[in-house]
Amino acid sequence: MNMQAVIRPQASMLPVLMYHGLHADERTNGRYDAVYSVHPDAFARQLDWLLDSGYRTVRIGEHIARDGSATGASRPVAITFDDGDISNVEVALPLLRERGMTAEFFITSDFIGQPGMLAAADVRTLAEAGMGIGAHGRSHAFLEDLDIDTLDAELRESRACLSTITGRRIDALALPGGRGGERERRAALAHGYRHLFGSVPGPNRGMESDDWLQRIAVTRATALPEFAALVAWQGLHPRMVRARFVALSWPKRLLGNAGYERLRARLL
Ligand SMILES: [Zn+2]
Repeated sequence: MNMQAVIRPQASMLPVLMYHGLHADERTNGRYDAVYSVHPDAFARQLDWLLDSGYRTVRIGEHIARDGSATGASRPVAITFDDGDISNVEVALPLLRERGMTAEFFITSDFIGQPGMLAAADVRTLAEAGMGIGAHGRSHAFLEDLDIDTLDAELRESRACLSTITGRRIDALALPGGRGGERERRAALAHGYRHLFGSVPGPNRGMESDDWLQRIAVTRATALPEFAALVAWQGLHPRMVRARFVALSWPKRLLGNAGYERLRARLL
């Protein structure tokens, strides 16, 4: 099947792809996750599909102009990585650079230097290669579970740490676990973050601001035809992803975040 013939991306969308680690298998450097570890070969094929289909990677903040209008590429896409796995610099960076593409790396500051995770020098390498660096909490605690003082400390300390390492202003935040609401949004904006990423799956259709962006999770199980449908947000697959998200939000609400994580661990 010629996928390019059937995929018709619509104007005024910004698909934001969410990755974690890139691992061939559990012996690869980094923290392997059976769901979220994408095979490096699959990632390379996804990048090639984006290029062949006329997509161009944009950096968050460059896509939306100050007047609120979308700018630049007719088929923009943003690539993001969460947590700060060592494969971000060892695997993702060379594959992106070979193709002239960029990504945003959301790094949990307490994870820096831990086994299998980026060291401070790696974070600097990513920044110096023209990649975006964003915050992903200090400890990876789910922000909506925290009292306001702990929430403030998470937002402040992680931002300061990454700013010290990179010498840059850090203005993007991916919420750990994608979880948070209006309290977390207000707190983050008050701390100087300007671009927030949640976990509601969607293509950011017709968006006029980028202070609360939807993301599309790419997992080990995402085959290329599904990937293409998700990026274009067309066909059955996006609807299934959204339905699953809605279905899973009920156990999260009933069990709380900790209970939900225990349930997920048992199911895996
Ligand atoms: Zn995370």
